Amino acid sequence: MTEITELGYVTVGVSDIAAWDEFASQILGLEVVRPDDPKIRYLRMDYWHHRIKLVEDSSDDVLTTGLRVAGVLEFRAMHKILSDAGVDVRIGTADEAEACKVLEVMFLEDPNGYPIEIFHGPLVAYDMPFHPGRRMHGGYKTAHGGFGHMMLNRSVEFEDIHAFYTLLGLRGGIEYKMPIPMIPEPVELMFLHCNERQHTLAFGGPSEKRVNHMMFETERMEDVGLAYDLVKQAGIPVIIEPGSHANDQMYSFYMKNPSGFMSEIGWGGRSPTGQSEYYQRDAFGHAPVMENMKGFMVPA
Ligand code: FE
Repeated sequence: MTEITELGYVTVGVSDIAAWDEFASQILGLEVVRPDDPKIRYLRMDYWHHRIKLVEDSSDDVLTTGLRVAGVLEFRAMHKILSDAGVDVRIGTADEAEACKVLEVMFLEDPNGYPIEIFHGPLVAYDMPFHPGRRMHGGYKTAHGGFGHMMLNRSVEFEDIHAFYTLLGLRGGIEYKMPIPMIPEPVELMFLHCNERQHTLAFGGPSEKRVNHMMFETERMEDVGLAYDLVKQAGIPVIIEPGSHANDQMYSFYMKNPSGFMSEIGWGGRSPTGQSEYYQRDAFGHAPVMENMKGFMVPA
């Protein structure tokens, strides 16, 4: 089957890499790896070489999204599918693949103009088990579900986004028509899945950036609570209070990270149900903190 199997990695441009060192390790509990280049950090949460690559630049946004296919045959088949569909796609050189820490990579853009890297063969370091940056009750839930999910803004119609990601093998559709304070019409959100995680990519989230939020899922509920306590103690703005989503039924909360978009920490998400349905509100909680949303989620 030629389809994306998981959200493998993401590269994020960050203006304040020192603030991210502290946030990633002490708030999120991720392992921060410093390569020779002082403008780069690798953030780990499992055996993979990295799941997040931070690059010092002024964008404070997602630079590229790494989507995995199973192996070399699927990689070649995916390249043919995209080429036949008229998508502008370029297979990376050996050096480019090495820089991505994968066996092979191809470069393209989605209809929003967001860069995508489709790859197979990530570098997995079984000699380097995940070493959290601070105490944790358990680890991060990644296997068979990718490292988490990401909600992005959109600049084109949902139809175009749906058609493109269907080509990549993702499935899903509109799951929310959600009233958001200070935004006149209910906001429609599209959710797409490719594995046992209820959604891997989502589109339509209000943001001045490409990215609205990035979610990591912990293995134990206590780690959501611990992260919440640490966020409060550090004075980091909570954007959406703890609650349970209607679609993935994840218990989670959202905070503002040093790049000004949201990080979501969740626990207990369900798998895709295989049939479409939509929601107007969450199961409970998830109250927006209005004063912390101004200027990036709602008008200032
Ligand atoms: Fe989310």
